[in-house]
Amino acid sequence: MIDIGANLTNESFAADIGEVLERAKKNNIEKIIVTGSSVASSQAALELAQQHPDFLYATAGLHPHAADDFNEDTLDTFKALIQEKAVVAVGETGLDFNRNFSSQENQIRSFEAHLNFAEQTHKPVFLHERDAFDTFHPIMRQHPELCARAIVHCFTGNLDALKAYLDLGLYIGITGWICDKKRGAQLREIIRYAPIDRLMIETDAPYLMPHRDRLKSKMTHKNRNEPWTLGYTAQALADAHELDVQAVHKKTRNTAIAFFRL
Ligand SMILES: [Zn+2]
Repeated sequence: MIDIGANLTNESFAADIGEVLERAKKNNIEKIIVTGSSVASSQAALELAQQHPDFLYATAGLHPHAADDFNEDTLDTFKALIQEKAVVAVGETGLDFNRNFSSQENQIRSFEAHLNFAEQTHKPVFLHERDAFDTFHPIMRQHPELCARAIVHCFTGNLDALKAYLDLGLYIGITGWICDKKRGAQLREIIRYAPIDRLMIETDAPYLMPHRDRLKSKMTHKNRNEPWTLGYTAQALADAHELDVQAVHKKTRNTAIAFFRL
């Protein structure tokens, strides 16, 4: 399996990243893409990836939560980072109107700048959208070529949003959210409308632990999700699609290899 989004530069991993990676390998995780969400975390993601070639990769971008910090210098740093072989995507970038940690105006400005920059590269794009479909969708629709190499990670929207994204040609990232008894119910119901070859799986670690009630006691840090739990998300996706879990492993893996050119 390939975990296409893990925030391994989060400080909660600083003390035992080696053990975290070993546990991932033992649990059939072949590769991990480390999400960059700020200048510092994108640089740290690249360094980490360079220490583990062919196992870890990085993205370079500014999370919408941090969009108030966006300026031309930020973009110049990402432009330099994207030249590195281990940096496989622009992002994360997008819109998050759930908590509005940055102003919506700044989120849109940062998002559009990332898209324009991504258009000048040949790299894929790693997108974040939460409670912002009505603004996000018309922006992406203006970038049809980019949509074919972009993924909406941690999808938590409704069926209309899912269909609209698929119609644009976007890929969809599924996290442990799909395992959540209550919050994940809608996603389990609608995800079968998405062709399996347009889906990839991710942990978004240290966030979104799947089956929190069951797994909390098995974790070395009870509030921290890790890439090794990715199999639970694969299983939930297999159940929703009525597929063998091995088929989900194989298909999502092959999609990720082709999409991120790993
Ligand atoms: Zn995100």
